[in-house]
Amino acid sequence: MSDIRYNLLDDRFVIIAPERLSRPLCNNQSQVKTKMLHCPFCEGNESMTTPEIYALRDASSEANQKGWHNRVIPNLYTAVNVETKNYIKHEGIFQAHNGFGAHEILVDTPDHTLEMHQWSVDTYINWFNTLINRIIDLKDNRELLSLTIFKNSGLIAGASQEHPHTQLIALPVIPTTLFQKYQRFSEHYHHTGHVLLEDMIVQEYQDNRVITENSDFVAFCPYASEYPFEVMIMAKEGLSRLELIDKEELQSLASIVSKVFSSLKNTLGNFDFNLFVSVPPLQKNSQTKLFFDEIDTITRFYIRITPRIYQHAGFEVATQMMINPIDPNEAARRLRG
Ligand SMILES: [Zn+2]
Repeated sequence: MSDIRYNLLDDRFVIIAPERLSRPLCNNQSQVKTKMLHCPFCEGNESMTTPEIYALRDASSEANQKGWHNRVIPNLYTAVNVETKNYIKHEGIFQAHNGFGAHEILVDTPDHTLEMHQWSVDTYINWFNTLINRIIDLKDNRELLSLTIFKNSGLIAGASQEHPHTQLIALPVIPTTLFQKYQRFSEHYHHTGHVLLEDMIVQEYQDNRVITENSDFVAFCPYASEYPFEVMIMAKEGLSRLELIDKEELQSLASIVSKVFSSLKNTLGNFDFNLFVSVPPLQKNSQTKLFFDEIDTITRFYIRITPRIYQHAGFEVATQMMINPIDPNEAARRLRG
């Protein structure tokens, strides 16, 4: 069983998850054919996974059978487990939560080879709708305080499964960086009366780092990009959380994400990447009470895409400070095409 240990030295958490050592590392381009036969995420191989938690499927199809557009399953090589009891244990001066939490895999599409830049707008809409279902459901569990939604695509980005998939990890703690971010949103709002993310967008427009926009969303290479060709896609105004999106906004979001992936593909060729979908802390508690009731005022929904062209080295690990060799203005210019 895993532990969510608190790092006294750096004021952050670490998940010690020995179970994850045994997961297969099967991302090897030269074996694509063999893998599609044995890939647990491919359509027709549903019996190779644990039973699905949720699936967006044709009305005529049955659970754990063919006929789905995307499907959510518990991660087999889980970092945390939702069926474990949630408690804190003290070990001398140290403390840890036992490995309580939810770790789910969203299989993005039945097609093993369908990369994000090839997804149709409908595939994106289905993907967002399933994420919304999971956010609402996981939030119902009052013991889960944070939810991280992310994609690892390609070996450099840390993917151990080639089939397009997204991971959702919900924890009984709030990662320090997430907590501090919402604290900053709150401070900025109270000092200036503005939403920090909206102020950022104004400056990104002025400084010419916007790649594309539509009525509801804007995509740009942020001023302090930590990765080459990093892109943020942000709600222009109003929308603070994905689960509050309306039908028209969802259509705009799907089309701008699709456009950004086409630009990235045209500029970079095949590229590994990570993607993060913003989810504010899930519950009001003694830690989040300072800003929880005003989350929808102080923040905006965003997606962050970080292409992984270079590996991290010692400096980044030691300092948590990235070295990015590409000027974000130049990245934006190239992505505009
Ligand atoms: Zn597959």
